[in-house]
Amino acid sequence: HAHLQKATDKLSSLATLDGLTGLNTHRAFQEKLEEEYISALRHNLPLSLLMIDVDHFKKINDQYGHLAGDRVLANFGQLLKKRFRVEDFRGRWGGEEFMVAFRHIQKETAQGALQRALEELRALEFSGDHGECFGITFSAGLVSYPDDGRDIEDLIRKADERLYQAKKNGRNCLIAKG
Ligand code: GH3
Ligand code: MG
Ligand code: MG
Repeated sequence: HAHLQKATDKLSSLATLDGLTGLNTHRAFQEKLEEEYISALRHNLPLSLLMIDVDHFKKINDQYGHLAGDRVLANFGQLLKKRFRVEDFRGRWGGEEFMVAFRHIQKETAQGALQRALEELRALEFSGDHGECFGITFSAGLVSYPDDGRDIEDLIRKADERLYQAKKNGRNCLIAKG
């Protein structure tokens, strides 16, 4: 029943993977994160979490077209998927918002590993629906367990606050403290 197994695998991956980016859906990411948190708690290991949001994405859609916007998200997702270690995991958290979880990694180490990937994301070039060339910027919040929160809810709230702070500070930056 190899064909049946294949169909079953396809169905379950459809439920957990976002169609546009190929990353975990919000729900799948949240579930993995909860499992990971329990393991981090049990083994007394750190866990870092990055929340990242494309800047002025509404403008990108308006200026270059919705399909161009979709290409941005698809490429963004692909690059996030290729970078970082196999044991890390990523998700599409919302429309143009992504999350990456770094297992067993403290904030300083995560920040180091992030530097290159963030530069690559910044250097991506896209073409608009009429052939125009454009780039994007994004803002991010980085938090770590146990320093920045004692459970998943705390951590996500803190990451969200820092992302908001990054937007307030003029966008195109990452905030990892405060
Ligand atoms: P900010 O810098 O503050 O984040 O501004 P923003 O414009 O990125 O944020 P806002 O939340 O106002 O707009 C997000 C936009 O993302 C609005 C929505 O139409 C667009 N969007 C959400 N999902 C998709 C998608 O799947 N494809 C495309 N093309 N656009 C999407
Ligand atoms: Mg945005
Ligand atoms: Mg957003």
